[in-house]
Amino acid sequence: MTEKFAVIGHPVAHSQSPALHQAFAAQHSIELDYSLIDCAPAQFDSTVMQFFATGGRGLNVTLPHKAAAFLLAHQVGMRARLANAANTLYYSGEVLLGDNTDGTGLVRDLVGNLQLDLRDSHIVIIGAGGAARGIAAPLLGLWPARLTIANRTVERAVALAENLSGLGNVHARALDHLQDERCDVVINATAASLSGQIPVLNLDVSGAIAYDIVYATRPTLFMDWADQHGAAASHDGWGMLVEQAAESFYLWHQVWPDTRPMIDDRKAYAR
Ligand code: NAP
Repeated sequence: MTEKFAVIGHPVAHSQSPALHQAFAAQHSIELDYSLIDCAPAQFDSTVMQFFATGGRGLNVTLPHKAAAFLLAHQVGMRARLANAANTLYYSGEVLLGDNTDGTGLVRDLVGNLQLDLRDSHIVIIGAGGAARGIAAPLLGLWPARLTIANRTVERAVALAENLSGLGNVHARALDHLQDERCDVVINATAASLSGQIPVLNLDVSGAIAYDIVYATRPTLFMDWADQHGAAASHDGWGMLVEQAAESFYLWHQVWPDTRPMIDDRKAYAR
C-alpha cells in the first residue's frame, strides 16, 4: 500500500523534500506519496490532525511551524526538547511523536561529508531562531573549545546560550557587538539570505570554514562575503538538508537511505 507523507510549511512550494524522500524510497523499493502542504499558522494544528486522521504516516515541518509542531506533539525526543522545535512528526500507536533532525543533519554534513574535525575549535552561530536552536546542542556534541551564538536580537541569543550552558562553553553576543573575534567555523543560521541580505559581521573568518544553512543553486551572499574575507571554504546547506531528510526517513521507515548520490550530484535532485 502507498503510504502518505508530506512537508508542511508556509510557504512550501520551494521545498526539495518530496524529491529527496522519493529518491530514498526508490533505493529501498518503498512506495510512498510525499506531498507539499501549505498552511497558515492559524490552521497548523487542524491541518496536521486532519493529515494523520486520513491515513498520513509522517510529516516534515518547516518554517514557520517548527515551534507549533513541538507544542502539538504528545511526546518529544531530546533533540526536539533542546531545540524547542520539531521538524518531524509521526505516530507511534496513539502517541504523536515530535523529533528534530536538523542538528543531526548539519553534524553529518560537517563531519561525514565535509570531513571536518571541530574538536577544540571556536564555532560561531549567527542567528538564534528555530534553526539555530536545532543545531546548537548537536554542535556542542562535537567538543568545540567554544560556541558563540550571535543574534540581531541579543535576548534570544542569551536565552539560547543559558539553555545550553550545562552542555559546553557557550557565549551569547549581540550581532553588532562581535569584536573582530577569530573563529574556525561560522554558521549562518539566519533567514537573511532568503531576503537577499547578509548580517553585518565584525568577525575574523580568515582561514575559517563558512557554512550557510540556506541552500541555493549559486553561492549565497553570506558565502560570497566569507570568501571575500579570506575563509578557507564556504558551503551552503544542501548537505544538511539531505542529511536531515535521511534522518527523518530513518525514523519513519527504519532503514537508512544512501545520501551519497544526492551529495555528489545535487543538480539531479535540487530545483
Ligand atoms: P526563524 O526562527 O524565523 O529565525 C530567523 C533568524 O534569522 C533569527 O535569528 C533572526 O534574528 C535572523 N534574521 C533574519 N533576518 C535577519 C537579518 N536581515 N539580519 C540579521 N539576522 C536576521 O527561522 P529559522 O527556522 O531559524 O530558519 C532560518 C533559515 O534556516 C531559513 O532560511 C531556513 O530555510 C533555513 N534552514 C535550513 C535547513 C537545512 O536543512 N538546510 C534546516 C532548517 C532551516 P532576530 O531574532 O533578531 O529576528
